[in-house]
Amino acid sequence: MAIERTLSIIKPDAVAKNVIGQIYSRFESSGLKIIAARMIHLSQSDAEQFYAVHRERPFFNDLVKFMTSGPVMVQVLEGEEAIKKNRDLMGATDPRKAETGTIRADFADSIDANAVHGSDALETAIVEIACFFPTLNIYSR
Ligand code: UDP
Repeated sequence: MAIERTLSIIKPDAVAKNVIGQIYSRFESSGLKIIAARMIHLSQSDAEQFYAVHRERPFFNDLVKFMTSGPVMVQVLEGEEAIKKNRDLMGATDPRKAETGTIRADFADSIDANAVHGSDALETAIVEIACFFPTLNIYSR
């Protein structure tokens, strides 16, 4: 199985709930390593750029407002099939549809305030990681 890297964001709702550690535990228990991390309060243009693929969607403005409403915790996760593994840990976008025991089922309130982001493919992971971390600040171990 391939060792991959993926970008994870703990969104403002989950940071406000003080569950960063609980979410990190799930990454670590599943064998994913946190190889870079930083807390950042996204500006409007940071959030607009990050979610540019959703620019035409009806929820875009609310999404940008939510993502800039407080600090987020951003990390690079590394491990076997890290992209899928993280998506499985996260659960479905809408927490009402997320499987029991997933991060969104346990910590998210709604489809918009849904606790976490995770890259959905290899190409997006590369682009998203580069948005936040220079290669020098990623410590594969
Ligand atoms: N989103 C929303 N309303 C929707 C669909 C998505 O507010 O009807 C937000 C939600 O925060 C989601 C993000 O837009 O996490 C990106 O949507 P995507 O479909 O890529 O879901 P994800 O990959 O995060 O599960």
